[in-house]
Amino acid sequence: MGEFRLEIGSETECQKCGAAVLLSSETCPGCSSAAPHRLTFEEFFIELEQGRMLDARQGGLVVGRSGPEDDIPMYRHFGRGIFEVVGLMQGGEFIVSKLATEKHRDWLEEINQETGEWPADLSLEHSPVASIINTNLLPEWGGLWISYQFVVNRFATAKWLDELLWRNATANDNNVVGQFSR
Ligand SMILES: [Zn+2]
Repeated sequence: MGEFRLEIGSETECQKCGAAVLLSSETCPGCSSAAPHRLTFEEFFIELEQGRMLDARQGGLVVGRSGPEDDIPMYRHFGRGIFEVVGLMQGGEFIVSKLATEKHRDWLEEINQETGEWPADLSLEHSPVASIINTNLLPEWGGLWISYQFVVNRFATAKWLDELLWRNATANDNNVVGQFSR
């Protein structure tokens, strides 16, 4: 019988130049840019277990910390048991799931070009397809676990919220919501 072993890698690739960056290294040896914050599987699991990390892989409206700065880190599994920060976002933006991004990429890129005054008071109606990721109770540097990084800006999210919720929820034909019709 095979033994279960989790091999944890020792390096990631630089997000800017692709050079290998050791976990112990603070900067990239190729381009000298600062290495992103990285966690091993074990460290990441502790963050999840302690409630400092939320699983946002299914996508949804992110609420909380609605100041103007991007201050919510997004973590993605780099591979081989290493998670790394791939970007920052803010409350009022919408994370699109990997499946929904693949299905609706053109539309998402189109609406994400739109910018303007953010209405701030998003009215959320109770809906069977609503998916809300609430960061209000996370500690300051708590983050979100994502599988793919497509973030819709706050203006476009406010304008297209119902449609975003709908498209995100129904992109996976195998889930319960995917069987809804309208
Ligand atoms: Zn680099």
